[in-house]
Parts: sequence; structure tokens; C-alpha cells
Amino acid sequence: MQIECQHRDEHSCQFLLSGAMPSFANSIRRAMASEVPKLAIDTVRIYDNTSGLFDEMLTHRLGLVPLRTETGTYIPIEECTCEGEGCDRCTVSYTLSVEGPGVVYSRDLIPNDPVAAPAQGDIPIVKLEKGQKVVIEARAVLSTGKAHAKWQPTTVCGYKNYPRLAIDARCDGCGVCVDACPRHVLRLTGRTVTVDEARIEDCSLCRLCEKGCMATGIGDQPAIRVGTEPDRFIFTVESDGAIPATEILRQSVRFIRTHGDELSRALEEIAEG
Ligand code: SF4
Ligand code: SF4
Ligand SMILES: [Zn+2]
Repeated sequence: MQIECQHRDEHSCQFLLSGAMPSFANSIRRAMASEVPKLAIDTVRIYDNTSGLFDEMLTHRLGLVPLRTETGTYIPIEECTCEGEGCDRCTVSYTLSVEGPGVVYSRDLIPNDPVAAPAQGDIPIVKLEKGQKVVIEARAVLSTGKAHAKWQPTTVCGYKNYPRLAIDARCDGCGVCVDACPRHVLRLTGRTVTVDEARIEDCSLCRLCEKGCMATGIGDQPAIRVGTEPDRFIFTVESDGAIPATEILRQSVRFIRTHGDELSRALEEIAEG
């Protein structure tokens, strides 16, 4: 099995997974979305809210603000020795006090630990008219997307099978499929159609080329066939800013390895009776 990085920056990455079963590709996807822990606001104490939003809506919006989460800095509150009280090993506290007129932004959330500040400061939370006020205290804890979507570190997390295109000998080079392709994956040189290998990964598997070929009256089957490689996958991952995209991948692989080892140990114990 191989992972080949094709693009990466702080918020996104694209990589090619080769030599893996579809079930394994799906395990990585699921682990990235729901097993990588991050911070999110979970409890809000409202001292004043005269904005146009109900308290529930305001707290819901606060919960969805991505908070920077450095790996290993905090532990889940249910594993902490404070037994749910909240302490500096498992909890980050925020204060927010804004008076209108103006917009309350995510940057108005002031953390007791600057490392856990909102990932982007310009997320609007609520607009205040003159005289309206929001004064709150909030508490963020570590959890995973399995518990609630607000703890999901990815905004995009998906893969597609690697495209494979085949053109058979019945092709007469009419070029209809080339014009039908919205991703410009096919090329016509003289009366010969070829696949542009530099663009093959852009193929969306839409099959418009096959439809175009059928429309020429070629017969029961098109001369061009769209398929996929069964053990190669193109992954696209985007982070909400809480954790870098490559770190999300690293932690998901670690999760699968740890749980795979546990399963294997359990199976050995069962086999030994
Ligand atoms: S499947 Fe769609 S994107 Fe891929 S080559 Fe055919 S028309 Fe183009
Ligand atoms: S539409 Fe069919 S016959 Fe025409 S160039 Fe494409 S594959 Fe060949
Ligand atoms: Zn604690």
C-alpha cells in the first residue's frame, strides 16, 4: 500500500492511495471525519443576550466556530482526573462581551489559552443593533465527529476511484466524445482519439463520452468505455482550520492502526480460548 501526496497546504490536501481495498479507503475516510479529536464549544453561560437570536441559536453558532487544536495539548474531559468538573488539561474557557451596533465575530471569543483561539477571526456570529448586547462565558472540550458534527475537523473528506478509459478498435475518430467531455480529458489528433494522461485524474466518471459515442449510432456498446481501477483512490481533504489537513490524515491512520492491533489481539485471545 502506498500514499502519494499530490497537493498540500495548511487547510487542504489531495493524495493518491494505491494498493488498498475499497473497505480500507472507506475506513480512512470515516476515521478522518469522525475519529480525530478537536476542540469545540460545548457549554455556554449567557449573562446577557438582547440580540435578535434566541439563546439556543446563539450557542449553536458558537459551537460551530472552529477552534485551533494542537495535537496532544488537551485530553477528553471523560478521561480527565477532574471527573467532568473541567480543568486546564481538558477544558478551554472563552469570554465574549460585545455591544451594538456592529457584528459579533469569532475573534471576539477571547480564550484563556491563546493557542486555542478561533481558527478564523472573521466568522460572523450575530449582528447587533444599537443598544443590543451579548455577554457570555463558554467552555470548549475535546471530542470527535462521532459525537457531534461540530467536532468534525473536515469540511470536505472524500475519494473517488482512479479513472480508467479504454477506446476499442471500432472507434472511427469522429471526435464526438472529445467534444462531449466537460473536463477535457480526451484529445483528437487527426482521426485518433487518445486520453490526455496529464488530465485523467480530472475525469469525473460522468460517462458523457460514452453517451456521445452511443448517439453516433455505433451499436449496442460505445467504442469508449469508462471504468475505474479497483485499488487506487484519489482523496480530497479540507480542514475547517482547527487541525492541518495532513495532521488529520496522520491521526486517522494512527487510529486505524491502534484499533486494528486491538482487534487482532482480541481475535488471538478468542482463538486461544
Ligand atoms: S467520463 Fe466524463 S469526464 Fe471522464 S472522460 Fe468521459 S466525459 Fe470526460
Ligand atoms: S465518439 Fe466513439 S467513435 Fe467517435 S471518436 Fe469517440 S470513441 Fe471514437
Ligand atoms: Zn479536567
